[in-house]
Amino acid sequence: MTKWVYTFGGGRAEGRASDYERLGGKGANLAEMCTLGLPVPPGLTIVADACDNYYKNGRKLPEALKGEVAAGLLQMEAITGRRFGDTSKPLLISVRSGARVSMPGMMDTVLNLGLNDQTVQALGHDAGDARFAWDSYRRFIQMYADVVMGLDHEVFEEILEDEKAHLGHALDTDLSAVEWQHVVSRYKAVIEEELGEAFPQDPEVQLWRAVGAVFASWMSARAVTYRLLHNIPETWGTAVNIQAMVFGNLGNTSATGVAFTRNPSSGENELYGEFLVNAQGEDVVAGIRTPQSITEAGRIASGLERPSMEKLMPEAFAEFRHICRQLEAHYRDMQDLEFTVERGTLWMLQTRSGKRTTKAALRIAVDMVADGVITEDEAVSRIDPASLDQLLHPTIDPRVNREVIGSGLPASPGAATGAIVFTAEEAVEAEAEGRKVILVRVETSPEDIHGMHAAEGVLTTRGGMTSHAAVVARGMGIPCVVGAGTMRLDTRNERLMGIGITLQRGDVITIDGSSGQVLKGEVAMIQPELSGDFGRIMGWADRSRRMTVRTNADTPADARAARSFGAEGIGLCRTEHMFFEGDRIQVMREMILAESEEGRRVALAKLLPMQRSDFTHLFTIMHGLPVTIRLLDPPLHEFLPKSDEEIAEVAAAMGMGAALLRQRVDALHEFNPMLGHRGCRLAISHPEIVEMQARAIFEAAIDAARETGAAVVPEIMVPLVGLRSELDYVKARIDEVAASVIGEAGMRIDYLVGTMIELPRAALRAHVIAEAAEFFSFGTNDLTQTTFGMSRDDAAAFIPTYQRKGIIEHDPFISLDFDGVGELIRIAAERGRQTRADMKLGICGEHGGDPASIHFCETIGLDYVSCSPFRVPIARLAAAQAAIKARG
Ligand code: PEP
Ligand code: MG
Repeated sequence: MTKWVYTFGGGRAEGRASDYERLGGKGANLAEMCTLGLPVPPGLTIVADACDNYYKNGRKLPEALKGEVAAGLLQMEAITGRRFGDTSKPLLISVRSGARVSMPGMMDTVLNLGLNDQTVQALGHDAGDARFAWDSYRRFIQMYADVVMGLDHEVFEEILEDEKAHLGHALDTDLSAVEWQHVVSRYKAVIEEELGEAFPQDPEVQLWRAVGAVFASWMSARAVTYRLLHNIPETWGTAVNIQAMVFGNLGNTSATGVAFTRNPSSGENELYGEFLVNAQGEDVVAGIRTPQSITEAGRIASGLERPSMEKLMPEAFAEFRHICRQLEAHYRDMQDLEFTVERGTLWMLQTRSGKRTTKAALRIAVDMVADGVITEDEAVSRIDPASLDQLLHPTIDPRVNREVIGSGLPASPGAATGAIVFTAEEAVEAEAEGRKVILVRVETSPEDIHGMHAAEGVLTTRGGMTSHAAVVARGMGIPCVVGAGTMRLDTRNERLMGIGITLQRGDVITIDGSSGQVLKGEVAMIQPELSGDFGRIMGWADRSRRMTVRTNADTPADARAARSFGAEGIGLCRTEHMFFEGDRIQVMREMILAESEEGRRVALAKLLPMQRSDFTHLFTIMHGLPVTIRLLDPPLHEFLPKSDEEIAEVAAAMGMGAALLRQRVDALHEFNPMLGHRGCRLAISHPEIVEMQARAIFEAAIDAARETGAAVVPEIMVPLVGLRSELDYVKARIDEVAASVIGEAGMRIDYLVGTMIELPRAALRAHVIAEAAEFFSFGTNDLTQTTFGMSRDDAAAFIPTYQRKGIIEHDPFISLDFDGVGELIRIAAERGRQTRADMKLGICGEHGGDPASIHFCETIGLDYVSCSPFRVPIARLAAAQAAIKARG
């Protein structure tokens, strides 16, 4: 029988931290804190399986759930000495989502549940504060109507603004009990008017509708988008936490806040947090009021005037600090905490491993190794490889004169320049058109994540370091400045007022997510310097790694960048890419469009010196490290002119008539160029191409070896082989050229000839192909395309639909399909090594830079992965993590 409910409270809990898959992160950690004896309001967690069950059963809750929740509520009542729905001592509860991984702000929460026209009176009496009771009731109505009944919260905000204007009050806190009572009746009236139903008074009804709403929020558009962006499977579902309310809005001895046990931006080992006096938790997260620092040091550092929690509530603060240390030691990681102080008493509402910038993650890991808390391998395993991207963002050149037009909090590091846009939609549009923009908002909400993703950076005029914009931007690794109080956004007139300047949509600004400054115009940037902590972690990673990491580089600039990121060779040089630029593309087109071998040879003679000098550069930069050069593999359509305009241009450059050229292009037209006359097929039709390329490679190898003194052993790779006879044919041409270049130069050259495995036939016949091939490199882009029978150029039209409909979890062109494509790789690796035991095996498709795919490569024993230069650090770290995991 499924157990649907796990209770916690009074120093005991049925669950624990390791149950997070079942209880969600929040529920599991509440249970753990409870068992540790920390002050946690009692509650219960409905397991995440109930969510999946809810959807599988046509949005119905499991039968047994009601009874289990009732029993849990009884326990909460016993611990608190209050009763749910009671008209003298009512128990109020919060109903919150809590998935296995945190999805900040994506799902719904209801606070103060259990209030109605009777219990509000009781709450007022009991607390001795009617104003507080009525304020709580109106908050509840507003939240409940929004989350459960689907009535937009703006309706309520308008009423409140109207009331305040009428009463002459500036702040919410100015309203008296009677005034709040009036607001409540207006709220209830508007609900009846808009929805045709009364606000539910029965706490039981309130509760079950709220539970349903939390489950429903799992499928909200924003949660679905978030899951897609973060690869979170739909079947995980969310748990629901029902917990006794404690109140941070019970006057000036009450407060609520969030904190990190270390600085989440820099990683410095200092308690870091924000709180609001006389407020409920949502006020801090929503960034509606600008929060105060919890520590004195933090207050001074950020130049805030209002007193810190340390000063204002020394006892609660001391207890909180002690708990922070206890939790960090217990979890052996930096924690992100939520707490409430109710009339001087501290309550813990959440702990979890804190989100942090990559810079902070590195620093914390290195510090924890130094303190003997974790091992070097643990430190390496804790860094999310993909997050290293954050370190590679540019920063503002310190030599430039900064024209500061505003400033806020440095929420997510790196600097970004772009034209101002005011809505997420505009940002998405701009991205589609290739324009760079900064999304400027008063504050962001989960509806904005599309736009945040599309923007270069995000600027908000409100909110703290834990506001939605800050948390989400840090997660995405995009530069972000929040709470720029020196700026004002006039949304109605679409203007951003800065210091001495008024900006409009389209005006260019630069934000510095590391200092919090907003600058006018575009500013010179410098590439990041990788910190000492980065070097330490990468050093440990390199020691732990088994596979080597090469790069896919086609130009000397790529090769140099990759070397600086630690690439240990080139795993793929796509020679056709060397001809994409400038006048080179003309010569390449001449070669492709030539009608005879003679014509081709003329063009090839022009290409030879270009290839040779490029190869010499690559070999020189790699200084004896392995370099794999792939023979020409141009799906022809990438090079042929298409529009009439292009044809006219190319025809003029080639000195031929446009009509004739059109004829040639038509003759070369293919229905499926990806499966057409490309790869080794081209070499077999036109061996003179191979001859030119092989000559360029060997001559360059000789030149580079002479220049650097380091022997060069080129690895020549034949693309798109399916038959051993194809490889035999091409290899024979290469060997002939080698013999003649060796003869001409009077110098020995060692070289390898191998093949890409990118067709299912090649994988299945790997043992036979290995008789001729000295190495294999898995071209998983083509192998995915040919295994699935999905065109890699067309799949983007339907893959997102497949993901949304749950047909596939991941895009197989991004993350390797282990079951199908992976199986072919496994077969090819095994069969290849049956024939040639010491055969070098690598991967050079896009998957070579994808951490999950790199793990797979480790498990089947590949020798190296190869990826684009900027992903080299990611691959080094992922390869180390895979090796650590494999060692157990
Ligand atoms: C591949 O197919 O995986 C590969 C690396 O080659 P290309 O992407 O150039 O076809
Ligand atoms: Mg390929």
